[in-house]
Amino acid sequence: MNQLRWDPTLGEWVAYATHRQDRTFLPPAEYCPLDPTKPGGFPTEVPRESYDIAVFENKFPSFTPDAPEPDGEGGALTPTAAGRGICEVVLYSEDHYSTLATMPEGRIRDLVEVWADRYGELGALPYVEYVFIFENKGEAIGVTLHHPHGQIYAYPFVPPRPKKELEAAREHRDGTGNCLHCDLLAGELEDGRRVVAEGEHFVAFVPFYAHFPYEAHVYTRRCAPSISDLGAAERRDLARVLKRLLVGYDDLFGFSLPYMMVMHQAPTDGGDHEGVAHFHIEFYPPNRTADKLKYLAGSETGAGAFVVDVLPENTAGTLRKAIGGAGA
Ligand SMILES: [Zn+2]
Ligand SMILES: [Zn+2]
Ligand SMILES: [Zn+2]
Repeated sequence: MNQLRWDPTLGEWVAYATHRQDRTFLPPAEYCPLDPTKPGGFPTEVPRESYDIAVFENKFPSFTPDAPEPDGEGGALTPTAAGRGICEVVLYSEDHYSTLATMPEGRIRDLVEVWADRYGELGALPYVEYVFIFENKGEAIGVTLHHPHGQIYAYPFVPPRPKKELEAAREHRDGTGNCLHCDLLAGELEDGRRVVAEGEHFVAFVPFYAHFPYEAHVYTRRCAPSISDLGAAERRDLARVLKRLLVGYDDLFGFSLPYMMVMHQAPTDGGDHEGVAHFHIEFYPPNRTADKLKYLAGSETGAGAFVVDVLPENTAGTLRKAIGGAGA
């Protein structure tokens, strides 16, 4: 059952996917369902002997294309809706032990093409209003499958966080005529202290207002609303800057750094997002130090107010050194 319920106190949808509870399939410990299917071996999610990048629909999705209309639950204050959408899994490599950071830049370039392709195809579906591309990496983030992979959620609504960002950007554009993100990027480049890697078309920086100590944002220099709007040279440069940032992240503490990676871009709701949406990728690593994690506790979760114990200028300096020879 896939159902949306409206939280009128926050003005946002909560998605229920009860069949996810019914998962009976528990693979043996040594068995990775994301590996290629070996001849005579267990059938995995990928019925091929080898692959480079593979995309398939999640077997236990949070949203499904054929979610039924809710039957009478809810009320005037708390309406319900069908949890219609698509959830996809993107396998980055057949190599179980690789990560995005250890992959050749060419593979990341291919992945950028896959992301652009999925954004276009899923976004074109009439009930999809937002294509959210993301990766949860590492046990600290709660990942149980170590195989290198990301996910895509095609939501039937614009989710709260991008919505809030888009509203702020719209207000800024209406007030100044400028794109908020273009103005922020110009400010970071002029200041320089938080820039950690610069490419011809993309810039990585720790934002002035980072919520996580080593949070980094990767912005396109040109005001492109979505990944589909990037040209060939821009896509190549995105792969190059991502590779540098990710290798730097792993060098930071000398281990493969856990993170959440999320993409913010134009909704696919048919609205006008020119000068408002500006394609960018945000990384939130949970580590404060090699062995201390930042938890989302009372203030962050209950009040929505982040408290960070180190300034972005300082973490950016450390991260820039780890990346080496980059940025300002
Ligand atoms: Zn695997
Ligand atoms: Zn812009
Ligand atoms: Zn953002």
